[in-house]
Amino acid sequence: MDLASIYEQLLDLPSLSITHVEVAAKTIHIECQTQATSQSCPTCHQPITNVNQYYNRTLRDLNMGIRHVYLVVKMRQMHCQNCQRYFSESLDFADLAKEYTHRQANYMFMLARKQSYTEVAALVDTSPKTVERVVLARCAQVIDLPTRYARVRRLGIDEHSHRKGKKDFICILTDLDRGTLLDILPNRKKETLVTHFKGLGASFCQQITDVSCDYWDAYIVTAQLCFPQATLVLDRFHVVKWLNESVDSFRKQLRKSDKDNPHYKALKWVLYKQYHTLSDKQLDDLDLAFADSPALKEVYWSREAFHHILDNSVSVESALVGIQQWTDEVAHKSLTAFDTFVKTLTKTNVYIANYVLNSVSNAVTEGLNNLIRSVRRTAFGMTNFEHLRLRVLAISE
Ligand SMILES: [Zn+2]
Repeated sequence: MDLASIYEQLLDLPSLSITHVEVAAKTIHIECQTQATSQSCPTCHQPITNVNQYYNRTLRDLNMGIRHVYLVVKMRQMHCQNCQRYFSESLDFADLAKEYTHRQANYMFMLARKQSYTEVAALVDTSPKTVERVVLARCAQVIDLPTRYARVRRLGIDEHSHRKGKKDFICILTDLDRGTLLDILPNRKKETLVTHFKGLGASFCQQITDVSCDYWDAYIVTAQLCFPQATLVLDRFHVVKWLNESVDSFRKQLRKSDKDNPHYKALKWVLYKQYHTLSDKQLDDLDLAFADSPALKEVYWSREAFHHILDNSVSVESALVGIQQWTDEVAHKSLTAFDTFVKTLTKTNVYIANYVLNSVSNAVTEGLNNLIRSVRRTAFGMTNFEHLRLRVLAISE
């Protein structure tokens, strides 16, 4: 086997034949040309063999060992006599007018999953701008938004704080049946949401059977406007969070009023857990605290009773009855720790009760929050929302 054939096998781009290889300390330049005899004219699509002139095109390809590889392709400029048109031959391994091969672009894309554009640029010896262009173009190719939207029936709407400590939220849409990310929107304003969903068309809006969301006016109004046929469910994750906050505020009061009582210490996470999930040690701790504060016991068991309603009601109607009885009992026992929760409850009881219809939960978006966080970590200086969106969607694909 001659040297050129060995290089050709190593290069693994079958459409090329190699004419010369220049190996330097840090680079390899591979001079080559395509083996195609004719090119289809972009205008009349006839096969053209008439070459007007040759020129060199240099393309960055994957490294060989530590050396950067450059393909120096002897390109043919063709001339179609039917159309009087000049055009360059096309390459099956690189896009028109790009200075890197498809597989090099793919490599940059893979690197950019975990590293900033600047770091990738340094690794492959190009500019951060080029890396950014490559990554965004690849993302746009990978994301199949029409398919994502066409198959969703149960929709989750949630948010993620964009910048730490600021009231700056992006909105996260999820496909609850698949537990996957659907899309992200730049904020959680009503206008943004309504415009987005209406823009997807009537058939999309009509196919939605359930919407699960947090208690946020814009979500509820949007769901009523865009998906009037859908069942609106307040996400259990958030409902449980409010409940636990009520229990926790009571615990804090106890700690304040009886600072030296050791039984109230380190109780926060024990109280957050449901009774049937507690260990023997945790049950003992709980019993000691309950012995000192019967009121804490009442608060804890009221929280458990609410879980019981969500877990065991067989219909929305029976859940509503259960919620009403629960509210009456809390009032009767003067458990003021639940005051805030009860206020929200009276406004949202139907949406909370809808949970029993098919137990949808948005909890999947908690995992997606981590995904977005990891993208943000690597996307230093990525202030453009569309860019963030493309990267998050491509990674979740
Ligand atoms: Zn032509």
